[in-house]
Amino acid sequence: MVDELTSGTQRHQARLRSNKPLTAPGAAEEIRELVLEVSDPDFHFGPGQSIAVVVPGPHELGHAEHVRFYNIADVHVLRDGNPEVAICVRRCEYLDEYSGERYEGVASKYLCELPEGAEVTLAGPVGLAFEVPEDRSANLLLIGLGTGIAPFRAFLRHIYRNLGGWEGQVRLFHGAKTGLELVYMNDHQNDIAEYLDEATFRAIEALSPRPQWDEPPALDEALKAHEEEVWRLLQAPNTWVYVAGIADVRKMLDRVLAEFAGSAESWARRKAELVAGGRWAEVVY
Ligand SMILES: Cc1cc2nc3c(=O)[nH]c(=O)nc-3n(C[C@H](O)[C@H](O)[C@H](O)COP(=O)(O)OP(=O)(O)OC[C@H]3O[C@@H](n4cnc5c(N)ncnc54)[C@H](O)[C@@H]3O)c2cc1C
Repeated sequence: MVDELTSGTQRHQARLRSNKPLTAPGAAEEIRELVLEVSDPDFHFGPGQSIAVVVPGPHELGHAEHVRFYNIADVHVLRDGNPEVAICVRRCEYLDEYSGERYEGVASKYLCELPEGAEVTLAGPVGLAFEVPEDRSANLLLIGLGTGIAPFRAFLRHIYRNLGGWEGQVRLFHGAKTGLELVYMNDHQNDIAEYLDEATFRAIEALSPRPQWDEPPALDEALKAHEEEVWRLLQAPNTWVYVAGIADVRKMLDRVLAEFAGSAESWARRKAELVAGGRWAEVVY
């Protein structure tokens, strides 16, 4: 599937400019931001798109190349015209339930440990961009837990900095297991906070319920605490919804929004209308 998605997309060489932790020391998860300079001034992308990182083999499972996708969290054009892209990578580990052995994810380990200055092969960008509505009075509901916040970092920069502002209500639901794992909203890097002065923007945090730190962040509770506003936005004719990050978010959203709608059927109908109108976009993995 990865081959199908990356075949026909152009490969690009990039150089790693920086590799820094986004999570605080002592956090249960490690998420790092990698900034890569792409040696191709024609490399263009839109918020919501991903790049494929090609990890050269040979690999333990026999494949020649290991290719994984990462959402683009930011892009700048450097003086020489080359773009500099940021990605946000969570170090993955998997437990083999039969042998009890732990395996480190190939691409996430490679990226988290890549030294500054290293050459990296990328492909893409791939995937549909999150389309930003032309009408600046449209409301935007952005939902992304963990690394799912990455495309919204690019999105918020685009609407508040490149476009110069947004009139509709913009609500970002983001979260992590604990405050230490919050990305782009912690003591180290707090980019999202730069939009908190914007009259139309609010960020709402979801953390895992204490003391069950291993549970997923309580997006359901965060949504319920803002039920009236979320439901009003979802019924408005000019609200666009964007969902990014772990696929579990989709199930959690459907469950809570069915409660708001009064039944699973009513929510399914409303969601189908949003999808049909091109106002519901997802990048989940
Ligand atoms: C569109 C899209 C956007 C994404 N954006 C992001 C993002 O912004 N940030 C982010 O962090 N992630 C993102 N991801 C997820 C990312 O692409 C990778 O899936 C993730 O980093 C794990 O890849 P990996 O190579 O580290 O793990 P892998 O090596 O691929 O491990 C995955 C699987 O292989 C098994 N496995 C691994 N090693 C062994 C072994 N030695 N023996 C047996 N089994 C093994 C594991 O059990 C596991 O099921 C995105 C995914 C998609 C599809």
